[in-house]
Amino acid sequence: MKKYSSLKEIQALISQKQLTLPDLLAYYFKQIEDHKHLNAFNEVFFYSAEVQAKAVQLKIDNGTAGKLAGMVIGIKDNICYKDHVVTASSKMLDGFVSPYSSTVVTRLLQEDAVIIGRLNCDEFAMGGSNETSYFGVVKNAADPNLVPGGSSGGSAVAVQADMCLAALGTDTGGSVRQPAAFCGQIGLKPTYGRISRYGVIAYASSFDQVGPITSSVEDAALLLQVLAGADEHDSTVATVPVPDYPAQLQNSQKQKIGVLKETIESDALDPEVKEAILQSISSLKAKGHVIEYVSFDLLDYLVPAYYILTTAEASSNLSRYDGVHYGYRNTEAKSLTELYKRSRAEGFGEEVKRRILLGTFVLSAGYYDAYYQKAQQVRRLIREKLAALFVDFDLILSPVAPTAAFKIGDNVQDALVMYMADIFTVLPSLSGNPAIALPLGNNAAGLPLSIQFTAKHFEEDKLLAFSHDFLSS
Ligand code: GLN
Repeated sequence: MKKYSSLKEIQALISQKQLTLPDLLAYYFKQIEDHKHLNAFNEVFFYSAEVQAKAVQLKIDNGTAGKLAGMVIGIKDNICYKDHVVTASSKMLDGFVSPYSSTVVTRLLQEDAVIIGRLNCDEFAMGGSNETSYFGVVKNAADPNLVPGGSSGGSAVAVQADMCLAALGTDTGGSVRQPAAFCGQIGLKPTYGRISRYGVIAYASSFDQVGPITSSVEDAALLLQVLAGADEHDSTVATVPVPDYPAQLQNSQKQKIGVLKETIESDALDPEVKEAILQSISSLKAKGHVIEYVSFDLLDYLVPAYYILTTAEASSNLSRYDGVHYGYRNTEAKSLTELYKRSRAEGFGEEVKRRILLGTFVLSAGYYDAYYQKAQQVRRLIREKLAALFVDFDLILSPVAPTAAFKIGDNVQDALVMYMADIFTVLPSLSGNPAIALPLGNNAAGLPLSIQFTAKHFEEDKLLAFSHDFLSS
């Protein structure tokens, strides 16, 4: 059970002088200590968090505090924070100190959040189980024999086990939504271009988005409001105005929801996940939402297109880690070529190397047309097909993942099994739509289940208001 359920509750306690921010921070430090075995944190920022907590408490006392005063938040270890180590959970960046802050960190601090530490994740955010981290597996607090999901596994577990109120993750193909689902939390992937990627270590730049993992929709709405919007450091951020998401949470309307038939009928879908989703569809109908099953016949193309495009982008993005500019360097190499080879061979883990090789292959002369270009065309078809559904529907409903959290070690040896598990999350990633994972109770074994809703581009306001209503009844 979480001690504090939302920032609103914390802010009320602080303003009634029943709680101070330094005391709150001490509570979360103790929680982190008590849950060390889950391995969620790569580092706790004891010093800077305490300095910030004291400074914000003074501002609260003066009445000058920002919107996030009282929020203790963790950040995935691929988000840069000036003068703090950032590693992407890779040996390649072990000990690397960031010389600047990402836009998301700057905005958190401007609104007086306290950043408590950096959270474990799959290496360079590549994975779906947090088993590829150089710093070891993260464990699910619901059952430590199970994975927390990935790649933002540390972020999800930190919120699940009450080690901080909220966390930031990044989502390229599901890395906020799927770990949130495995850990019973709320995970929001905003529209591509809603939040700046400046200072976020790149995996696949045309997919990557920062997103919050929280235990209340209110906190997700507030964080999105603070983080979203134009940024001169990232030209892919949209200039679309940022709505007041928290203020609009009560405005939920009856929605027309399309259920992706092939996802519910998929053989891969676990029966308990299916049953929970079918029950949820019944209660949505009972509440007056209009539900229709719709066909999405491109389902089989989602995972191949996603892995061709993301590995291609990753092979380019990760070429900067060459042992010369920064990061891990082999010290015995006798030539420049050997230095590149050995630094990269020793600095990257197996999964990252697999993806660099795959990406280099699909971009190489002779294969570019057959793979990379074809996948781009498929991506366009997927986008168009989804856009056509949104002419008739407000929201699209699907599972987040085919199963609940699985055992540590079960899927990690078989890359294809692991990749196929991304089948439901990569659709909004390929199309750039916003999508949210919402908790749906537990299965018979007590493990969290989840459901996914996808909205039109930049309609996070509608998505969040719907989610608020969905969870409050
Ligand atoms: N599991 C997916 C992958 O490995 C998603 C990762 C992510 O969203 N960062 O690519």
